Amino acid sequence: MNVIRQFVKNTIPAVIPRKLYIVHGDVNQCDSAPDANCGNTHSKPLINIAFTFDDGPHLEITPQLLDVLQKHEQQATFFVIGEKARKYPQLIERIVSEGHELGNHTLTHSEPAQTSTRDFLDEIQQTDQILEQITGRKANLVRPPKGKLNLGKLLGLWRQRRTVVLWDTDPRDYLMSDNSEIISWCQNYQPVSGNFCLMHDNHPYAIEAVRQLSECQHTRIQSLAVSHWLEKKTQHSTRTKQACA
Ligand SMILES: [Zn+2]
Repeated sequence: MNVIRQFVKNTIPAVIPRKLYIVHGDVNQCDSAPDANCGNTHSKPLINIAFTFDDGPHLEITPQLLDVLQKHEQQATFFVIGEKARKYPQLIERIVSEGHELGNHTLTHSEPAQTSTRDFLDEIQQTDQILEQITGRKANLVRPPKGKLNLGKLLGLWRQRRTVVLWDTDPRDYLMSDNSEIISWCQNYQPVSGNFCLMHDNHPYAIEAVRQLSECQHTRIQSLAVSHWLEKKTQHSTRTKQACA
């Protein structure tokens, strides 16, 4: 079963337009950060990735995360839960006003296996309405809870021309119990241009991860919002692979 799932996971991104389904940025796509040009202006090679944060906003953690993103001039995508967005609209406003991007992570984060297609799409729509009330616009990006979709849910999202966003890099911060674990992960992480990194802002370790990766000694890791990776810009590749130890 796992073999089939792995096959589907690897095959879909290869045959489906990125506007409909994206797991990582194109390794051949060298996007330019606002102050950079593919690493030429800095001694350290530039690697563009995407920090993505799920399951927030959280009253205490999200503001700290936004502070550290701002300090290091990193741009991220927050896949928010509709109920929490409704509870903390000020955090949604702050995420947007500081240049980050919003994605839809359903209304309640209901268990995929126990949620019908109709209920799933209804949760997406209700979250749309909440985000639209707060920001004036819908979030077109959707990340299903646990990254799990069946065919009906996938087709339902595609009928709405939504972009399904998964990830290729997972520190499993939600299983960690100490900052030393995320520091160790960051030191061993070998970033590759286009990585989509899954973290959570209902757990505290993403804060230290952003700090560690932003201060990487060997490479300049610049996070860009997911939508940057949906724009077609094919230039020379950034293939540097270097751990941050
Ligand atoms: Zn989630």
